[in-house]
Amino acid sequence: MARIGFIGLGNMGAPMARNLVQAGHAVAVFDLAPSAMEAVPGALPAESAAAAARGAAFIFTMLPAGPQVRDALLGTGGVAAAAPADAVLVDCSTIDVATARALAAESGRAFLDAPVSGGVMGAEAGTLTFMVGGDVAAFAAVEPLLRVMGRTAIHCGAAGAGQAAKACNNMMLAATMLVTCEAFILAEKLGLSHQALFDVASQSSGQSWSLTTYCPVPGPVPGSPANRGYAPGFAASLMLKDLGLAVGAAQAAGVELPVGEKALEVYRRFVEEGGGGKDFSGVINKLKR
Ligand code: NAD
Repeated sequence: MARIGFIGLGNMGAPMARNLVQAGHAVAVFDLAPSAMEAVPGALPAESAAAAARGAAFIFTMLPAGPQVRDALLGTGGVAAAAPADAVLVDCSTIDVATARALAAESGRAFLDAPVSGGVMGAEAGTLTFMVGGDVAAFAAVEPLLRVMGRTAIHCGAAGAGQAAKACNNMMLAATMLVTCEAFILAEKLGLSHQALFDVASQSSGQSWSLTTYCPVPGPVPGSPANRGYAPGFAASLMLKDLGLAVGAAQAAGVELPVGEKALEVYRRFVEEGGGGKDFSGVINKLKR
Protein backbone atom coordinates (compact mmCIF):
# COMPACT_ATOMS: atom_id res chain seq x y z
CA MET A 1 0.00 0.00 0.00
CA ALA A 2 1.32 3.43 -0.94
CA ARG A 3 0.49 6.84 0.54
CA ILE A 4 -0.71 8.99 -2.32
CA GLY A 5 -1.80 12.60 -2.78
CA PHE A 6 -4.16 13.26 -5.71
CA ILE A 7 -4.94 16.81 -6.83
CA GLY A 8 -7.60 17.58 -9.45
CA LEU A 9 -10.72 15.41 -9.34
CA GLY A 10 -12.53 16.34 -12.53
CA ASN A 11 -13.75 14.08 -15.31
CA MET A 12 -10.41 12.27 -15.47
CA GLY A 13 -8.91 12.68 -11.99
CA ALA A 14 -11.89 11.37 -10.01
CA PRO A 15 -12.07 7.93 -11.70
CA MET A 16 -8.26 7.64 -11.64
CA ALA A 17 -8.20 8.34 -7.90
CA ARG A 18 -11.10 5.92 -7.35
CA ASN A 19 -9.09 3.14 -8.99
CA LEU A 20 -6.16 3.83 -6.66
CA VAL A 21 -8.48 3.68 -3.61
CA GLN A 22 -10.07 0.47 -4.88
CA ALA A 23 -6.59 -1.07 -5.24
CA GLY A 24 -6.09 -0.53 -1.50
CA HIS A 25 -3.90 2.59 -1.47
CA ALA A 26 -4.24 5.41 1.07
CA VAL A 27 -5.24 8.42 -1.04
CA ALA A 28 -5.55 12.02 0.20
CA VAL A 29 -7.38 14.19 -2.33
CA PHE A 30 -7.66 17.91 -3.03
CA ASP A 31 -9.66 19.93 -5.54
CA LEU A 32 -10.53 23.64 -5.55
CA ALA A 33 -14.18 22.53 -5.90
CA PRO A 34 -15.03 20.81 -2.59
CA SER A 35 -17.87 18.84 -4.22
CA ALA A 36 -15.36 17.18 -6.57
CA MET A 37 -13.72 15.45 -3.59
CA GLU A 38 -16.99 13.64 -2.82
CA ALA A 39 -16.58 11.74 -6.09
CA VAL A 40 -13.84 9.60 -4.54
CA PRO A 41 -15.37 7.56 -1.69
CA GLY A 42 -12.77 6.09 0.64
CA ALA A 43 -10.26 8.88 0.00
CA LEU A 44 -9.27 11.43 2.65
CA PRO A 45 -10.33 14.98 1.62
CA ALA A 46 -7.57 17.55 2.27
CA GLU A 47 -7.81 21.32 2.80
CA SER A 48 -5.05 22.22 0.35
CA ALA A 49 -2.68 20.69 -2.15
CA ALA A 50 0.03 20.90 0.53
CA ALA A 51 -2.14 18.96 2.99
CA ALA A 52 -2.80 16.23 0.40
CA ALA A 53 0.96 15.98 -0.25
CA ARG A 54 2.08 15.77 3.37
CA GLY A 55 3.63 12.35 4.05
CA ALA A 56 2.81 11.05 0.56
CA ALA A 57 5.29 9.01 -1.45
CA PHE A 58 3.57 9.87 -4.76
CA ILE A 59 1.62 13.01 -5.62
CA PHE A 60 -0.52 13.03 -8.77
CA THR A 61 -1.92 16.12 -10.44
CA MET A 62 -4.72 16.00 -13.05
CA LEU A 63 -5.51 19.63 -13.83
CA PRO A 64 -6.67 21.68 -16.84
CA ALA A 65 -3.41 23.27 -18.04
CA GLY A 66 0.10 24.46 -17.17
CA PRO A 67 -0.84 27.47 -14.99
CA GLN A 68 -3.03 25.33 -12.70
CA VAL A 69 -0.31 22.67 -12.36
CA ARG A 70 2.28 25.34 -11.52
CA ASP A 71 -0.10 26.83 -8.96
CA ALA A 72 -0.88 23.47 -7.34
CA LEU A 73 2.79 22.51 -7.11
CA LEU A 74 4.60 25.79 -6.44
CA GLY A 75 1.90 28.29 -5.42
CA THR A 76 0.85 29.26 -1.89
CA GLY A 77 -0.41 26.14 -0.12
CA GLY A 78 1.06 24.07 -2.91
CA VAL A 79 2.64 20.64 -2.95
CA ALA A 80 6.26 21.82 -2.79
CA ALA A 81 5.67 23.37 0.64
CA ALA A 82 4.87 20.01 2.23
CA ALA A 83 5.84 17.00 0.10
CA PRO A 84 8.62 14.79 1.51
CA ALA A 85 12.00 15.38 -0.13
CA ASP A 86 11.93 11.90 -1.71
CA ALA A 87 8.33 12.14 -2.98
CA VAL A 88 7.69 11.60 -6.69
CA LEU A 89 5.46 14.20 -8.37
CA VAL A 90 3.49 12.80 -11.30
CA ASP A 91 1.63 15.27 -13.49
CA CYS A 92 -0.94 13.46 -15.64
CA SER A 93 -2.48 16.67 -17.05
CA THR A 94 -1.96 17.60 -20.69
CA ILE A 95 0.20 20.73 -20.54
CA ASP A 96 2.87 22.47 -22.60
CA VAL A 97 6.32 20.92 -22.88
CA ALA A 98 8.07 24.08 -21.62
CA THR A 99 6.10 24.18 -18.36
CA ALA A 100 6.66 20.45 -17.79
CA ARG A 101 10.43 20.94 -18.16
CA ALA A 102 10.39 24.03 -15.92
CA LEU A 103 8.44 22.22 -13.18
CA ALA A 104 10.90 19.31 -13.32
CA ALA A 105 13.69 21.81 -12.68
CA GLU A 106 11.89 23.97 -10.10
CA SER A 107 9.86 21.57 -7.96
CA GLY A 108 12.81 20.27 -5.94
CA ARG A 109 11.50 16.69 -6.18
CA ALA A 110 11.56 13.90 -8.75
CA PHE A 111 9.01 15.09 -11.33
CA LEU A 112 7.43 13.04 -14.11
CA ASP A 113 5.22 14.40 -16.88
CA ALA A 114 2.77 11.56 -17.52
CA PRO A 115 -0.13 12.65 -19.76
CA VAL A 116 -2.67 10.05 -20.76
CA SER A 117 -4.65 8.88 -23.70
CA GLY A 118 -7.88 6.91 -23.40
CA GLY A 119 -10.33 9.54 -22.21
CA VAL A 120 -12.91 9.32 -19.44
CA MET A 121 -13.89 5.77 -20.39
CA GLY A 122 -10.26 4.68 -20.13
CA ALA A 123 -9.92 6.45 -16.78
CA GLU A 124 -13.00 4.67 -15.44
CA ALA A 125 -11.98 1.26 -16.77
CA GLY A 126 -8.34 1.63 -15.68
CA THR A 127 -7.15 1.20 -19.26
CA LEU A 128 -5.35 4.50 -19.88
CA THR A 129 -2.07 4.78 -21.76
CA PHE A 130 0.56 6.84 -19.89
CA MET A 131 3.39 8.51 -21.82
CA VAL A 132 6.07 9.50 -19.36
CA GLY A 133 9.02 11.88 -19.33
CA GLY A 134 11.59 12.18 -16.54
CA ASP A 135 13.91 10.19 -14.34
CA VAL A 136 13.98 6.43 -15.07
CA ALA A 137 14.19 5.39 -11.41
CA ALA A 138 11.19 7.58 -10.52
CA PHE A 139 9.29 6.01 -13.44
CA ALA A 140 10.12 2.51 -12.16
CA ALA A 141 8.89 3.46 -8.68
CA VAL A 142 5.53 4.79 -9.89
CA GLU A 143 4.92 2.26 -12.66
CA PRO A 144 2.89 -0.17 -10.48
CA LEU A 145 0.47 2.70 -9.70
CA LEU A 146 0.24 3.69 -13.36
CA ARG A 147 -0.71 0.09 -14.09
CA VAL A 148 -3.57 0.36 -11.59
CA MET A 149 -4.97 3.29 -13.59
CA GLY A 150 -3.87 2.19 -17.04
CA ARG A 151 -2.99 -0.70 -19.27
CA THR A 152 0.17 0.76 -20.77
CA ALA A 153 2.94 3.01 -19.42
CA ILE A 154 5.74 4.02 -21.76
CA HIS A 155 8.88 5.84 -20.65
CA CYS A 156 9.52 8.29 -23.50
CA GLY A 157 12.70 10.06 -22.37
CA ALA A 158 13.78 13.05 -20.27
CA ALA A 159 11.51 15.68 -18.69
CA GLY A 160 8.92 16.93 -21.19
CA ALA A 161 9.11 13.83 -23.40
CA GLY A 162 5.70 12.60 -22.23
CA GLN A 163 4.04 15.90 -23.16
CA ALA A 164 5.94 15.92 -26.46
CA ALA A 165 4.59 12.43 -27.25
CA LYS A 166 1.05 13.49 -26.39
CA ALA A 167 1.22 16.63 -28.55
CA CYS A 168 2.66 14.73 -31.54
CA ASN A 169 0.18 11.86 -31.21
CA ASN A 170 -2.86 14.11 -31.02
CA MET A 171 -1.68 16.23 -33.95
CA MET A 172 -1.50 13.01 -36.02
CA LEU A 173 -4.99 12.12 -34.79
CA ALA A 174 -6.41 15.52 -35.78
CA ALA A 175 -4.84 15.41 -39.24
CA THR A 176 -6.00 11.86 -39.99
CA MET A 177 -9.51 12.70 -38.80
CA LEU A 178 -9.73 15.81 -41.00
CA VAL A 179 -8.52 14.03 -44.14
CA THR A 180 -10.80 11.05 -43.39
CA CYS A 181 -13.75 13.47 -43.21
CA GLU A 182 -12.70 15.03 -46.51
CA ALA A 183 -12.44 11.59 -48.11
CA PHE A 184 -16.05 10.73 -47.13
CA ILE A 185 -17.26 14.11 -48.44
CA LEU A 186 -15.44 13.61 -51.75
CA ALA A 187 -16.62 10.00 -52.04
CA GLU A 188 -20.23 11.10 -51.61
CA LYS A 189 -19.89 13.68 -54.39
CA LEU A 190 -18.36 10.99 -56.63
CA GLY A 191 -21.27 8.63 -56.03
CA LEU A 192 -19.34 6.22 -53.79
CA SER A 193 -21.22 4.95 -50.72
CA HIS A 194 -19.84 5.46 -47.21
CA GLN A 195 -19.80 1.71 -46.67
CA ALA A 196 -17.89 1.03 -49.90
CA LEU A 197 -15.20 3.60 -49.02
CA PHE A 198 -14.97 2.16 -45.52
CA ASP A 199 -14.70 -1.42 -46.76
CA VAL A 200 -11.87 -0.51 -49.13
CA ALA A 201 -9.91 2.00 -47.00
CA SER A 202 -10.14 -0.02 -43.78
CA GLN A 203 -8.26 -2.81 -45.59
CA SER A 204 -5.97 -0.55 -47.60
CA SER A 205 -3.33 2.08 -46.99
CA GLY A 206 -5.91 4.73 -46.04
CA GLN A 207 -6.57 2.80 -42.83
CA SER A 208 -6.33 4.69 -39.50
CA TRP A 209 -7.83 4.82 -36.01
CA SER A 210 -9.92 7.80 -37.15
CA LEU A 211 -11.47 5.54 -39.79
CA THR A 212 -11.82 2.19 -38.04
CA THR A 213 -12.66 3.30 -34.48
CA TYR A 214 -14.04 6.85 -34.79
CA CYS A 215 -15.46 6.70 -38.33
CA PRO A 216 -16.91 10.22 -38.87
CA VAL A 217 -20.03 9.06 -40.77
CA PRO A 218 -22.84 6.98 -39.24
CA GLY A 219 -23.07 3.33 -40.22
CA PRO A 220 -19.76 1.60 -40.86
CA VAL A 221 -18.55 1.59 -37.20
CA PRO A 222 -21.66 1.29 -34.98
CA GLY A 223 -19.85 2.45 -31.81
CA SER A 224 -18.41 5.66 -33.31
CA PRO A 225 -19.71 9.07 -32.10
CA ALA A 226 -21.23 9.74 -35.55
CA ASN A 227 -23.97 7.24 -34.61
CA ARG A 228 -25.06 9.25 -31.55
CA GLY A 229 -25.20 12.77 -32.95
CA TYR A 230 -21.45 13.30 -32.39
CA ALA A 231 -21.74 13.29 -28.60
CA PRO A 232 -18.16 12.94 -27.28
CA GLY A 233 -16.07 10.86 -27.18
CA PHE A 234 -13.21 13.25 -27.40
CA ALA A 235 -14.54 16.79 -27.44
CA ALA A 236 -13.42 19.17 -30.20
CA SER A 237 -12.50 21.75 -27.53
CA LEU A 238 -9.95 19.31 -26.07
CA MET A 239 -8.56 18.59 -29.54
CA LEU A 240 -8.19 22.33 -30.09
CA LYS A 241 -6.30 22.62 -26.80
CA ASP A 242 -3.95 19.78 -27.76
CA LEU A 243 -3.31 21.21 -31.24
CA GLY A 244 -2.46 24.55 -29.62
CA LEU A 245 0.12 22.77 -27.46
CA ALA A 246 1.64 21.04 -30.52
CA VAL A 247 1.82 24.22 -32.60
CA GLY A 248 3.16 26.20 -29.62
CA ALA A 249 5.89 23.63 -29.03
CA ALA A 250 6.77 23.69 -32.73
CA GLN A 251 7.06 27.48 -32.75
CA ALA A 252 9.34 27.35 -29.70
CA ALA A 253 11.48 24.72 -31.44
CA GLY A 254 11.55 26.60 -34.77
CA VAL A 255 9.68 23.83 -36.65
CA GLU A 256 7.08 24.54 -39.35
CA LEU A 257 3.90 22.43 -39.28
CA PRO A 258 1.83 23.34 -42.35
CA VAL A 259 -0.63 20.47 -41.80
CA GLY A 260 -0.74 20.77 -38.01
CA GLU A 261 -1.32 24.53 -38.23
CA LYS A 262 -4.11 24.03 -40.76
CA ALA A 263 -5.70 21.46 -38.44
CA LEU A 264 -5.51 23.98 -35.60
CA GLU A 265 -7.20 26.61 -37.77
CA VAL A 266 -10.02 24.27 -38.80
CA TYR A 267 -10.71 23.14 -35.21
CA ARG A 268 -10.50 26.74 -33.92
CA ARG A 269 -13.22 27.77 -36.36
CA PHE A 270 -15.32 24.69 -35.53
CA VAL A 271 -15.14 25.54 -31.82
CA GLU A 272 -15.86 29.26 -32.46
CA GLU A 273 -18.98 28.21 -34.38
CA GLY A 274 -20.23 26.26 -31.36
CA GLY A 275 -18.80 22.79 -32.03
CA GLY A 276 -16.55 22.62 -28.94
CA GLY A 277 -18.83 20.24 -27.06
CA LYS A 278 -19.20 17.87 -30.01
CA ASP A 279 -16.91 14.94 -30.65
CA PHE A 280 -13.92 16.00 -32.75
CA SER A 281 -15.21 13.81 -35.62
CA GLY A 282 -18.25 16.14 -35.81
CA VAL A 283 -16.00 18.54 -37.71
CA ILE A 284 -17.22 16.68 -40.82
CA ASN A 285 -20.42 18.74 -40.71
CA LYS A 286 -18.39 21.96 -40.76
CA LEU A 287 -16.25 20.67 -43.64
CA LYS A 288 -19.41 19.78 -45.60
CA ARG A 289 -20.54 23.41 -45.33
P1 NAD B 1 -11.79 18.82 -15.62
O1 NAD B 1 -11.98 20.25 -15.96
O2 NAD B 1 -12.97 17.91 -15.63
O3 NAD B 1 -11.12 18.70 -14.15
C1 NAD B 1 -10.12 19.56 -13.67
C2 NAD B 1 -10.29 19.66 -12.15
O4 NAD B 1 -9.19 20.41 -11.63
C3 NAD B 1 -11.57 20.38 -11.71
O5 NAD B 1 -12.26 19.56 -10.77
C4 NAD B 1 -11.06 21.68 -11.07
O6 NAD B 1 -11.88 22.13 -9.98
C5 NAD B 1 -9.70 21.25 -10.58
N1 NAD B 1 -8.72 22.35 -10.41
C6 NAD B 1 -8.42 23.35 -11.28
N2 NAD B 1 -7.40 24.10 -10.80
C7 NAD B 1 -7.04 23.55 -9.61
C8 NAD B 1 -6.03 23.85 -8.66
N3 NAD B 1 -5.17 24.88 -8.82
N4 NAD B 1 -5.93 23.07 -7.55
C9 NAD B 1 -6.77 22.02 -7.37
N5 NAD B 1 -7.75 21.69 -8.24
C10 NAD B 1 -7.88 22.44 -9.35
O7 NAD B 1 -10.66 18.27 -16.62
P2 NAD B 1 -10.41 16.75 -17.09
O8 NAD B 1 -11.29 16.42 -18.25
O9 NAD B 1 -10.41 15.88 -15.88
O10 NAD B 1 -8.94 16.89 -17.70
C11 NAD B 1 -7.80 17.00 -16.86
C12 NAD B 1 -6.57 16.96 -17.76
O11 NAD B 1 -6.54 15.74 -18.50
C13 NAD B 1 -6.52 18.09 -18.79
O12 NAD B 1 -5.20 18.55 -18.91
C14 NAD B 1 -6.99 17.42 -20.08
O13 NAD B 1 -6.46 18.04 -21.25
C15 NAD B 1 -6.42 16.01 -19.89
N6 NAD B 1 -7.14 14.96 -20.62
C16 NAD B 1 -8.49 14.93 -20.63
C17 NAD B 1 -9.15 13.93 -21.34
C18 NAD B 1 -10.66 13.86 -21.36
O14 NAD B 1 -11.21 13.10 -22.18
N7 NAD B 1 -11.37 14.59 -20.50
C19 NAD B 1 -8.42 12.95 -22.04
C20 NAD B 1 -7.01 12.97 -21.98
C21 NAD B 1 -6.39 14.00 -21.26
